[in-house]
Amino acid sequence: MSELTIYNTLTRAKERFVPHVAGKAGLYVCGPTVYDYIHIGNARTFTTFDMVARWLRTVGLDVTYVRNVTDIDDKIIDRANERGIPFRELAESMAAAFNEDCARLKLLAPDREPRATKYVDAMLGLIETLETKGLAYRAPNGDVYFSVRDFPGYGKLSRRNLDDLRAGERVAVETAKKDPLDFALWKSAKPGEPSWSSKYGDGRPGWHIECSAMAAAELGTPVDLHGGAVDLTFPHHENEIAQSEGAGHTPFTRCWMHGAFLNMDSEKMSKSLGNFFTLREILAKLDPVRGGETVRFFLLRGHYRSEINYTWETLEDAGNTLLGFYTALREVAPANAPIDWSHPLAARFRAAMSDDFDTPVAFAVLHELRGEVNRTKSAEAAGLLKALGATLGFFQTDPDAFLKGGVELDVEAKIAERKAAKAAKDFGRADAIRKELEAAGVILEDKPGGNTEWRRR
Ligand SMILES: [Zn+2]
Repeated sequence: MSELTIYNTLTRAKERFVPHVAGKAGLYVCGPTVYDYIHIGNARTFTTFDMVARWLRTVGLDVTYVRNVTDIDDKIIDRANERGIPFRELAESMAAAFNEDCARLKLLAPDREPRATKYVDAMLGLIETLETKGLAYRAPNGDVYFSVRDFPGYGKLSRRNLDDLRAGERVAVETAKKDPLDFALWKSAKPGEPSWSSKYGDGRPGWHIECSAMAAAELGTPVDLHGGAVDLTFPHHENEIAQSEGAGHTPFTRCWMHGAFLNMDSEKMSKSLGNFFTLREILAKLDPVRGGETVRFFLLRGHYRSEINYTWETLEDAGNTLLGFYTALREVAPANAPIDWSHPLAARFRAAMSDDFDTPVAFAVLHELRGEVNRTKSAEAAGLLKALGATLGFFQTDPDAFLKGGVELDVEAKIAERKAAKAAKDFGRADAIRKELEAAGVILEDKPGGNTEWRRR
C-alpha cells in the first residue's frame, strides 16, 4: 500500500496512489513537439515530472517513466519548410537540443522516449478498432475523424459538456466533420507533406492518437499516472481518453496529473507580449556551472499546482538561496549514509512530499536542516541535507566547484600572487588584486590559518 497521495484531475480530489501492479508504477508524460527550443514554461512541466519520477522511486516503487517525442506535426512541417530542410532533420536537431536542455536542468532520462513516427502502425491499428466500433468515420476529404457524439464519456476529465462546448465553437469551417468537436485521427496527405500509406490512403496521424497508441504500447493500460501541463487537459487528454477507452482500454489512466503555468512578470507568457523566453536564453545569462540547478530550484520551490511567477529577481533569489545550501555543505563535509527516515526532519520531508508532492513544505524542512548544519557543524546533519536534496535532484555538485562557478579568470594564480604580496607586506598590491577579482564577480574569504577560499557572486 502506497503512502503517497496525488491530486487526480479526473476526480478533482487527492487520492491514495495505488498502482495497478503492486510495487510498480507506470508514468506517461506528454513530451515535446520538436520544432523549436523549449521555453521556460515547458521547462517547468518537465522538471515537475522529473521530480515526480524521482519521488516515486524514493518511496520504493519500480518506475517505468515514458516521455514521448512528437516528431511529426504541422508546426514541424511548417518550420522545416521555412528553413528549406527535411522535417526529420529539424526534428532530430531539436530533439538533441531538448536533451541538452534537460541535462542542464538535471532531469534524469526517462526509461523510454518513444517517437511518434516509429508508432504509426500502432496508431493505425487503434484507428481501425475505433472505426469497427462506430467511433471513427472517413470524411470525403480523406481525413478520418473521431465521432465525439458517439462516445458517452466525452468531457469527463475537463468537466465540460458537449452542448456548452458546441456553443463555443464557431460555425464549422471544416465541413468534412459531422460535429464541430470531432477531431482528426488521420490527416490525408497534402502535396509535398511527409506521409505514410494506409488503408485510408496516404496521410499522417493526428496528434492525440499518438499518445493513446504509445502509452498502450510502452506501458499497457491502465496507465497508473499520466501527466502534462494544465493546458493539455482539454482537448488533448480528453481526446486521449475518448480514443483509448473508445477502443476498449478502460480505464485508460487511473490518475491524471497536471502542472500549473509559469507567468512572466505576472502575465501569461506569449510571443506577442514580448515576454517569451526559451530556457536557453535564460541559462545564457546565468553562471554555466550553477545556472541549470538554479533554474531547477526556482521551478520546484513552488507547488506544482500553483502558478509561479518568473522575474529576474525571483530567479536571483532562488540562486542566492541555493548558494546558501552549498556554502553550508562546503563548511561541513557531509557524512555518507543512507537517509534515516526516523530523523524528525527527514520524516517531515517525506510526509510533505508524499502529500501530493508538497515541495514548498519540503524546501522549508531543508532550510531548517541547513540551519542545524550551520549551528552544530554535524557531518551527519550535512549528510542528511545532501541526501534529502538528492531526492529532488539538488546539492550533488562538488560545493567548492559550485561556489566558484564557471569563472574564466585564473583565480588560484591571483590568490597566490596576493598571498605573496601580503607576505612581502605590499598591502597596496594585495588590495588591488582583491578589487580586481571583486570586479570580476569573485569574492575572497580569508580563513584562519592563512588560507583563502573564494566563490562567485
Ligand atoms: Zn499526449
